[in-house]
Amino acid sequence: MSERYDVVIVGGGIGGLMCAYGLSESDPKLRVLLLERGRDIDKRICPIVSKKTKTCLKCDPCAIMEGMAGAGAFSDGKYIISTEYGGWLPDLFDNDLVMRYILKADEILMKFGADKDAYEPSIALKKECLKYDLHMQSAKVKHLGTDANYLTMSKLIEHLKNKVEIVTSAKMTDVDIKTNTVTYIKDHKEESVQASSIVLALGRAGASDFKAWAKKNDLALVNNQVDIGVRVELPYEIWEDFSKVIYEPKIKYATRGYHDTVRMFCFNERGQVVTENTDGILTVNGHAYKDETKKSKNSNFALLSTTNFTSPFNEPIEYAKSVASLANKISGGSVIVQRLGDLRNGKRTDEKRLKESSVIPTLDAVPGDLSLCMPKRQLDNIIETLDALSQVAPGTNNYDTLLYGVECKYYSARPEATDFMITGTSGIYALGDGAGFTRSLSQAGASGLMVASKIVKGVIQ
Ligand SMILES: Cc1cc2nc3c(=O)[nH]c(=O)nc-3n(C[C@H](O)[C@H](O)[C@H](O)COP(=O)(O)OP(=O)(O)OC[C@H]3O[C@@H](n4cnc5c(N)ncnc54)[C@H](O)[C@@H]3O)c2cc1C
Repeated sequence: MSERYDVVIVGGGIGGLMCAYGLSESDPKLRVLLLERGRDIDKRICPIVSKKTKTCLKCDPCAIMEGMAGAGAFSDGKYIISTEYGGWLPDLFDNDLVMRYILKADEILMKFGADKDAYEPSIALKKECLKYDLHMQSAKVKHLGTDANYLTMSKLIEHLKNKVEIVTSAKMTDVDIKTNTVTYIKDHKEESVQASSIVLALGRAGASDFKAWAKKNDLALVNNQVDIGVRVELPYEIWEDFSKVIYEPKIKYATRGYHDTVRMFCFNERGQVVTENTDGILTVNGHAYKDETKKSKNSNFALLSTTNFTSPFNEPIEYAKSVASLANKISGGSVIVQRLGDLRNGKRTDEKRLKESSVIPTLDAVPGDLSLCMPKRQLDNIIETLDALSQVAPGTNNYDTLLYGVECKYYSARPEATDFMITGTSGIYALGDGAGFTRSLSQAGASGLMVASKIVKGVIQ
């Protein structure tokens, strides 16, 4: 007989952790188990970060994406206090309700040491952008910093260890929707547990498994958009007028060439470009430390072009993975870096050309040619947007601006659900990035608290 719990949460990212916190605070008597396939937060050591290797060894689990505190553990910790972006919760719930939960999650993080200060939006900068048809989103945002964010999450996890049962290195392999039984592998042994409520908080690392599981159980899914592009790295002075005021410029631009939307986001002032391993495919991302000694001379941001597939092809995640895999292939299992000027001139950036660059790369990527692996449409969109951005931050489109590829954000397919409970199940909930509801720390955290409220009180209020 499987052991019984009131609630089993799968996934120890911010969504799963906030759900565990909400449950334990509302009803301390509940028996809650949290399963996480990665390691505990202090045992998450990426061999690239610890300088044991220069190339990704495709560890299973990946220390960057998987483990307690989830994909956000080493993130820059930009906490968006707004419903304007960061996920699709406002499409499903009243805006004020979502905002209340974002603030609740923020309060919890502050209890465990997160910063109280936030950057306010700037009307003046927004107006300046509008002159050039650049649409800057304006939200209040906190910058916790990679180091401070890690400490906050560690304290939250320590607190939860006394409230709920946490099992790490435990990979969920199946959930039986008829018996609400969760099967997982721990130390090469298959175990199973039953629960009245099961919460799937799998993050992007678990998105493919979630999709396969939903398909196997005939559960309806709706695909989300896919964003493909590059990570841009340039001297920090270029965007300083923005970052000093609002920390993170998030700007949308509709390209003239294809009428596609390109988004500038995930800005990291004086940060580092990093690799990310999703399902064995290497992509790029960025982060920034708060500690002055760890800051670089460069800022970086994502510049991604959005595509919505409809018919006959509607596999956005597979599409993004193929593009990223091609970049991995031609770089010998790594990611590519190219100077914008070389790209424009149809030249590969090689070791010699990269050494001539005035922008020193913060990631040891393979110098190469992005036009050999990225679709023309996305590449044209990116170059056009860099030119547009240069009108408000001159120098953005300099010859030596570095482009790392491929960066992609594919958002998990979203299940049909009511208050996060998956249609066709009884008490199986999906939340956060893995279920395609969110794409940020704040909305993923909010979704965790919302599910906790639904389980304990029967309503999200
Ligand atoms: C480098 C980087 C920087 C980022 N920076 C920011 C930022 O500054 N601001 C921001 O708002 N967002 C940022 N994000 C996005 C943010 O981290 C995510 O939106 C957030 O972590 C989503 O939370 P989640 O709980 O839904 O999923 P995750 O944090 O991904 O957690 C899911 C967890 O589930 C586990 N899991 C998956 N499958 C299984 C299974 N079968 N069995 C057991 N466990 C499983 C995974 O190992 C993982 O630990 C960043 C992401 C990355 C990768």
